Amino acid sequence: MSAEFEVQGIPITEIAEEFGTPLYLYDGDELASRVHGLKEHMHPRLEFFFSLKSNPNIGVCSVLHGAGARVECSSMAELLTVRRAGVAPENIIFLGPGKSAHEIEACLDEGIYTIICESFGELAVIDELARLRGVTAPVALRINPSFAVKGSGLTMGGKPRQFGIDETQVFDNADLAQRHPNVRLMGVQVYMGTRILSEEAIAENTERIFELANRVSDVLEFPLDMVDIGGGLGVAYFEGERDLDLPLLAARVNPIIAEFADAHPETRLVMELGRYLTATSGTYVVRVAYVKESMGEKFAVADGGTNHHMAAVGIGSFVKRNFPMRVLNRIEEPANESWHVTGPLCTPNDTLGKKIALPPVRPGDLVGVLRSGAYGPTASPVLFLSHGYPAEVLVLNGRAHLVRERDTTEDLLRHQHLPETAALATPE
Ligand SMILES: *Cc1c(COP(=O)(O)O)cnc(C)c1O
Repeated sequence: MSAEFEVQGIPITEIAEEFGTPLYLYDGDELASRVHGLKEHMHPRLEFFFSLKSNPNIGVCSVLHGAGARVECSSMAELLTVRRAGVAPENIIFLGPGKSAHEIEACLDEGIYTIICESFGELAVIDELARLRGVTAPVALRINPSFAVKGSGLTMGGKPRQFGIDETQVFDNADLAQRHPNVRLMGVQVYMGTRILSEEAIAENTERIFELANRVSDVLEFPLDMVDIGGGLGVAYFEGERDLDLPLLAARVNPIIAEFADAHPETRLVMELGRYLTATSGTYVVRVAYVKESMGEKFAVADGGTNHHMAAVGIGSFVKRNFPMRVLNRIEEPANESWHVTGPLCTPNDTLGKKIALPPVRPGDLVGVLRSGAYGPTASPVLFLSHGYPAEVLVLNGRAHLVRERDTTEDLLRHQHLPETAALATPE
């Protein structure tokens, strides 16, 4: 049996029987191995922070944390998740362009390692909230650099952005620390983009971020406790893409890190990773309800679709590119037919895969969308047509654990209220 059709020796069909479909299935061994691979190859001073945005499930977070990842969070719920998963405050960073006072207060009360500040307005709020609490807030500046490096699916630098403070504005405000006495500037963060699959681009980013961090530290006169070089490392989803080669990445990036690390023996060096840590561990499992033909093309209509997996519609591309997909219970049959795999929504966009090579598909078959552990249900319109959130199952040490229950219809209706009857017209 190949690994795509069972997880740690458990047939996926069994898991689907037990927990129902549609379902997100995560392999805990794969999650841990992503962290271990990085630790094994990359410079020992580099610390890996898991970006919960890519998959905020508490079970997933605790496996990655157990394997040695620290965390980056961006909302109150993510902060509570990581605390409940047992992550120590000194290994938590918090970022995001629109932090509420409530969130900033929670960061201060929890005593997290640093708040990554994205604007001058936010810095003033952090300063004031710290003053009211009689504490000093550790703050790293997120900088929107003047440079951009090609090779990312979504390039951040060199453009007007709501994220971070423009590099030029940082240098025009050299007295920033003096103006915010309740803030301790302690670091620099730069995030260059997502889905980066070029080792060279990551090396170039890293070099330029270190150079920028040094200049900021010199001009604004604060020591660098931390430099966060962002991350955004990608995984291959589509034809023609290639996974990052860790030994090659290490060969390119480690000398750059070594030089900076030697010059800054006290500085924590941080890399933020979402997709790279979670994508390969996850399979989105749907059950085929109907098969039909329309104008000569074959359709497999499944019980889940883009309502749980919006990314499968296509990432940053007008042409539909397909995620890798398999019929999970037909391992031995050749994929010699062409199928559209669609979901239950009443929109033609609800297409998980177009013209996918699959074996003959029958009602009741399980279709798996592979490499789906990142930006799945939480980045999808799970409430569209009120199907709700799918179940999430994590396999650990050869046992399947339900780590999130699927929404029931009552869950979906609970938050709605009929207006008072007096305000409603009586049916005629
Ligand atoms: C989204 C995001 C990440 C995670 O990105 P991936 O591409 O999933 O690794 C990390 N840092 C910041 C600032 C982000 O916005």
